Amino acid sequence: MKIVEAYLGLGCNLGECEANLCSALQQINELTSVTVNSISSFYRSKPLDNMPQADYLNAVVQIETGLLPIPLLDKLQAIEYQHGRRRHQERWGPRSLDIDILLYGDQVINHSRLRIPHPGISQRDFVLIPLVEINPQIRIPGLGKISEVVALCPDRGLSKLPTPCLSKKHR
Ligand code: ADP
Ligand code: MG
Repeated sequence: MKIVEAYLGLGCNLGECEANLCSALQQINELTSVTVNSISSFYRSKPLDNMPQADYLNAVVQIETGLLPIPLLDKLQAIEYQHGRRRHQERWGPRSLDIDILLYGDQVINHSRLRIPHPGISQRDFVLIPLVEINPQIRIPGLGKISEVVALCPDRGLSKLPTPCLSKKHR
């Protein structure tokens, strides 16, 4: 089985966000063929486009996985669902848990269910800044060095919080 390094972005702005992110991290770590290697700090961010919603809590994790991209997406969507996430019409609506696959090795994927690198990545400080925190050497396929991508990203006033969860597999 080929093991790939991937990065996931987690977000929440509905319900008990700190608890949701921590239990999602635990469930991701417990997936077969997935190991969570590092977890960024948690960050508080404003909703995109000044939407009238609560602030978001965001974090990024680095995983190693033997799962292919679509099976990984299926597992992550099941975890979203278990945390009360229900799909509805409103794009960018409030959510109890959002898990996005930001990067999957150096692959570029354009599938109807999955686009990697995640399309919004270059404009989202709440993704780029935690990515840099975990690994300042990352290259984003098609965009280049993360340090250069982050320098061009609009600063939306992210605030950094302590990480309340453990980062290594305890099994
Ligand atoms: P967003 O995260 O953009 O706010 P949603 O979480 O509601 O949107 O996801 C909508 C759809 O986006 C999902 O059903 C999934 O199939 C698709 N999708 C496309 N690319 C990705 C990705 N890189 N990670 C996660 N979901 C993705
Ligand atoms: Mg999503």
